[in-house]
Amino acid sequence: MYVRDTIAAISTPVGEGGIGIIRVSGPASQQIAQNIFRAKGNGGLKSHRFSYGTVVHPATGDVLDETMLVYMKAPNSYTREDVVEIQCHGGTLVVSRILSLVIEAGARLAQPGEFTKRAFLNGRIDLVQAEAIMDVISSRTEASLSLAQHQREGLLSQRISAIREAMLYALAYVEALIDFPEEDIDVAVERDVQGRVAPALAELQGLIDGFEEGKVLRDGVSVVLAGRPNVGKSSLLNTLLKEKRAIVTAVPGTTRDVIEEVVNLNGLPVKLLDTAGIRHSEDQVEQEGVRLSLERIPRADLVLFVVDSSAPFTDDDRVILDAIGSKSCIVVRNKSDLTSHCELPEGVTSPVVAISTLTGEGVPELRAAIHRTFVHGKAVDSREYVAVSHARHRDALIKAQRSLQRFVENLAAGVNMELLPIDLRDALDAVGEVTGATTADDVLDRIFSSFCIGK
Ligand code: GDP
Ligand code: ZN
Repeated sequence: MYVRDTIAAISTPVGEGGIGIIRVSGPASQQIAQNIFRAKGNGGLKSHRFSYGTVVHPATGDVLDETMLVYMKAPNSYTREDVVEIQCHGGTLVVSRILSLVIEAGARLAQPGEFTKRAFLNGRIDLVQAEAIMDVISSRTEASLSLAQHQREGLLSQRISAIREAMLYALAYVEALIDFPEEDIDVAVERDVQGRVAPALAELQGLIDGFEEGKVLRDGVSVVLAGRPNVGKSSLLNTLLKEKRAIVTAVPGTTRDVIEEVVNLNGLPVKLLDTAGIRHSEDQVEQEGVRLSLERIPRADLVLFVVDSSAPFTDDDRVILDAIGSKSCIVVRNKSDLTSHCELPEGVTSPVVAISTLTGEGVPELRAAIHRTFVHGKAVDSREYVAVSHARHRDALIKAQRSLQRFVENLAAGVNMELLPIDLRDALDAVGEVTGATTADDVLDRIFSSFCIGK
């Protein structure tokens, strides 16, 4: 398993704040707390009760801070080990001095994600739930948060464990077949096996199919505003950003020419990309603007092809349309407040939305159209909504599905009977990679090292 030593870290963000929390986990936690903490009033540390007191250097008697301390006796803690959390004043120096004292008293510095890794290794949560904890922390919209919370609560794990049950049932059956080849194959039992494996296969397919949407909700999407200069791209960007609550973060562009803004579009994290700065300068040539549009198109999950509906469709519009090719696209006919003079060329199959950034007309429809491009299920915010949102999970589920499919085919055809248990075990292993039961150590290390310190 792992070395059962005692780890410690600062669990609150770096910097100044109202409180800072130092978290300690492992067998020496309680001892360390008793060494460095002087409770006011009577009674020692009681599990799951806050104590008020001071942190004192045991050798010098120096008081480091006035604190609240909570001791959580194993197994009722985040890690299932003895845990102590010390709440002190949130100054950078105070917090790090108390951490140093905890280390002096016998703990070692925790690695990123090590508390959560212990929760996993001690069986409190599976790997799917551990990964969801990080997703909860990094969620930027309601929909991505709700997806992460459902995964953390174990909804995805439950679906996977039902699939696993069906595989185990089938495995017990084929092992009996091999052990007692003389016995007549019981048709009813075989039908029962098929009756359990078929829904498991369908469930696997459903989870795999849901990945695109899950990924979109978790990671968000890139939407590029493409169009020749002066069609209203920047105005549209500002319109989409204007609804103040929609703004999630403002990320400075990676290049001088591009601005990126993340907006919350009906729960979907959307990164909008538009050209910045130089596009409005006097010396900008038309071609420059078109070139910038063309460069950004390959990076898009969706292109908003903005045209000026009050002007004829130009050669530059055509160049951009050709560059979009078969990419997912919505044609935005901007300036619908003016008389229409723009006729789209034949053969445009993308959805078309007429808007005016001046009057706001059509903007809600555009938001809905963008949302619809990525999210098809209606029930994203329902209590039961589950989707696979990690590529790692999707890949393992595909492996499981292939092995299980092979099993079903061989069983039905009555051939390669000796392969039946092998295929089933492969399928079980693949499912175990998702939940952490059979995940290789280096994969585990990689997953947990992407966590934050103190989590
Ligand atoms: P960009 O070069 O594509 O980013 O275009 P801008 O957003 O800078 O807009 C170019 C010009 O079109 C500006 O003068 C805007 O005020 C104007 N404009 C943008 N949207 C509309 C609209 O919906 N209606 C009208 N009448 N003018 C618009
Ligand atoms: Zn612009």
